[in-house]
Amino acid sequence: AAPLSERTIRSPDGRAERRTMSTLRTALTVGAAALGGAAAVVVYGKLAGDGASAAAGDGGASGGGAVGGGGGGGVAQVIEADLTWTGEAFEAGVRVVVDDSGKIARVLSASSGDGAADGAAVTRRLAGVALMPGFVNCHSHAFQRGLRGKGETYPPHQAENSFWTWREDMYALVESLGEEGFYDLNRRCFAEMRAAGITSVGEFHYFHHGKGKRGGFDLDRVVVRAARDAGVRIVLLCAFYCHGGFGGVPLGEAQSRFATPSVDEYFAHVDALRAEVVEASGGTATVGVVAHSLRAVDMEQFKALAAGAASRGLVMHLHIEEQPKEVADCVKATGRTPMALVNDAVEVDARMTAVHCNHTRPEDLAAFVAAGGNVCVCPLTEGNLGDGIMSAEAAAVAFAARPGAKGGVGNAICVGSDCNARIDLFEELRWLEYSQRLARLRRGVVVSMARGGAGGGAGGAGAA
Ligand SMILES: [Zn+2]
Repeated sequence: AAPLSERTIRSPDGRAERRTMSTLRTALTVGAAALGGAAAVVVYGKLAGDGASAAAGDGGASGGGAVGGGGGGGVAQVIEADLTWTGEAFEAGVRVVVDDSGKIARVLSASSGDGAADGAAVTRRLAGVALMPGFVNCHSHAFQRGLRGKGETYPPHQAENSFWTWREDMYALVESLGEEGFYDLNRRCFAEMRAAGITSVGEFHYFHHGKGKRGGFDLDRVVVRAARDAGVRIVLLCAFYCHGGFGGVPLGEAQSRFATPSVDEYFAHVDALRAEVVEASGGTATVGVVAHSLRAVDMEQFKALAAGAASRGLVMHLHIEEQPKEVADCVKATGRTPMALVNDAVEVDARMTAVHCNHTRPEDLAAFVAAGGNVCVCPLTEGNLGDGIMSAEAAAVAFAARPGAKGGVGNAICVGSDCNARIDLFEELRWLEYSQRLARLRRGVVVSMARGGAGGGAGGAGAA
């Protein structure tokens, strides 16, 4: 099996990689938090065998030698690559000690002072390779991999293609899939994530029921099985989905396979799933709570979901303000923006993650982030679907350094591969920056905002 997180070094001194890595560090830290910490930053996968046992750290990607969480078994391997990312830089001479359960027991480096002293003999030398933390992919719909290619054709009879016409294609895919096809798409997608260095995925899962069914949640277990078979750690973000639009619009035909019954029945399912899945996985699968969107979940349900997540100590995610139409429909129905409703309805904290926020008002985002909420952006999908990008003012809020952030670093941002048309979190991070460059006619925007520099000011060029 291929190692999980080896990347060939493209520049001799790793300088180019280092720039990307500084953005990566905060994305990983926030990402691990957004998935509840249980899906901690995974540093390196088991090198041999089926890869089902991924090596887990404790979220300490920024901690260099502090990467821990080892199993306590005997030493199985001591790995040394040309360079290893230790949180601040790529270092040479770093030895990664893997125990016989496949977990990283220790990381020994010259800078931690114990590298040479330990004398651990290298059993696997990775020449021409840099080791780095496994990515945390905070937002995915693995089955949508089946739209690849199909989603890039634009029939001439459709005058205007958009997110909403893409959604029709996605619903057609949903209606065509039985359990086997669904498993296959999920497993292939997770395997591709693993090959791209992703070792933990937050699978935002709303496609619950098999063909011809409106209940049963049989596909939930299929997703977990597919992740296990591909060798990635999963947080099954189990979505509540009840309405076809604001104002209690009934579900459409394809949407009936997403249907959740009452909040009480939903939590009975979530609790059963947790008992079953977490137990069986040995900790490589956990469960989180999801309100699909305020289109699909009314505010009473949203409050009940948030309360249920809080009482169980689970993370909660939701899609929000991805498209202008969603904001407009919400304002029309309620007089408020979706994010304003969320901020008023519940006590936002670090367990809550808002996905997209492309059209969120800066003041709404400021309140959400100040309360501790995380923002998951998916630049490749948002570009692919024509969703738009955050305004300069909102981005300045989201990217600004947060006082008291875990590990003393970071902003509110984490990233996800979402529709999985492409799976490359390096590219997600590049486009996080590039989209802001294109909107502002400036460079180094994200780094500058994270430092609280002028580039982060709301006075940037035209907002998108
Ligand atoms: Zn999504």
